[in-house]
Amino acid sequence: MDLSLIVEKGIDILINKNTGKWIAIKNNEEQDLKIIKKISRELLIDKFGNKFGTYLWSKRIEMSEKIEDKFCHQMNCLVINVTDSCNLKCQYCYANNENKIKMIDSETIIKAVEKFSERIYPNNLTVIFHGGEPLLAFEKIKEAVENLKHIKNVVYSLQTNGTLLTQEKLIFFKKNKFLIGLSIDGISDENNSLRNIDGKIKDYTNKNLEILKNNKSFVKPLIVVHKKNINNIKEIVNFFKNNDFDGLVCNLLFEPENFDNCVLDDSLFDNMRYILDLMMENYDGENFAFSERDIRLLFRKVIYGFIDEYMCMNSPCGAGKETVAVDYKGDVWACNVLISKTEKDNYMGNIFENSINEILSKEVKISKRNIDSIPICNECPYKKLCGGGGCCGFVTNQRNNLKDKSIYCDYHFKLITYMIDSVMRYYESDIITNF
Ligand code: SF4
Ligand code: SF4
Repeated sequence: MDLSLIVEKGIDILINKNTGKWIAIKNNEEQDLKIIKKISRELLIDKFGNKFGTYLWSKRIEMSEKIEDKFCHQMNCLVINVTDSCNLKCQYCYANNENKIKMIDSETIIKAVEKFSERIYPNNLTVIFHGGEPLLAFEKIKEAVENLKHIKNVVYSLQTNGTLLTQEKLIFFKKNKFLIGLSIDGISDENNSLRNIDGKIKDYTNKNLEILKNNKSFVKPLIVVHKKNINNIKEIVNFFKNNDFDGLVCNLLFEPENFDNCVLDDSLFDNMRYILDLMMENYDGENFAFSERDIRLLFRKVIYGFIDEYMCMNSPCGAGKETVAVDYKGDVWACNVLISKTEKDNYMGNIFENSINEILSKEVKISKRNIDSIPICNECPYKKLCGGGGCCGFVTNQRNNLKDKSIYCDYHFKLITYMIDSVMRYYESDIITNF
């Protein structure tokens, strides 16, 4: 049994770090966060005895979850990186802004979609067009999609900065049932200022907000969270909520070379928790009427014990198993964020040269990063719930170290505690468990 006791203002959480099973009870003490790892029977009886009695000593809290092993984490997502070039120069981005644009051709798209969709048939394959800026290759995407009508188990998605989106393209995407992720870092020019749009920020912000408002059934906001918008998260989220969006995605910034624009202090949790508060206001005990994707997925895992289907919440993550990325040359990589000009550790083959079995059986370096191998996570009470503090590709990219702690570890720890506390308040209960 590997129990920890997390003592926070208003709540005590007893958790088994190896199963992720927890019991929380309300306390009335004013105290700062404390984690007690060696739990004595006396302490347990003192803290929980009156509420749980002998129940605490039952086998249930020691139960280990074997169910995860039963799940086969199947391939379900193909990212097609149609170009590594972009027409913007966002300060925090990895994309190539050289004038020489390297572009995929439609045959490569068709080959990749046919090959991977056939492999997982009859299950659906999500195909995400990514970049750089994928709309630089719109004609190639269009041609490929029109030649792939015979493939029935594919759903399309595309991630864009919006600058090249026109009415004509929107009509094409709607007709072909695309889901579009539109990058916008907020509702003011200041929020979008890291996008470096040479004096045209106003146009950028206004145009993208208009596109979002007019196409909300299939165009969704994607916000990178950084120093220029963290203090406005409340206004940004309220804006989308009040304009009848059902949600948004907030990606915490991982910069390629430094942490200059990342929010690494308490203001991250202090502002982001507002999103959870808003979600809880619109929660019916099962679903959220409005939600942020990553907070919703984490909530499902923490509160309901979901062994999640979402690859980025798993440890090791789904890179190279549940997802692969194909670049403009047809090279296959474990994930879009792991495409590299210099490293081959996460390279899996080429769609023209290798069979699908050869590609998918390739061992990739990223799969060696799992929660047990990260020293700080292995000791953490929340190791089964957290997933390691964000995208492991981004975490390891910077220093090429599989065992690095995530810069967003503290945020995840606080958010998980706050989630449990929020659910306790929602049910107006003194006790709550996830088993
Ligand atoms: S990232 Fe932090 S909160 Fe998450 S498991 Fe690792 S140590 Fe725990
Ligand atoms: S590398 Fe990051 S984005 Fe890719 S599957 Fe893993 S967690 Fe998700």
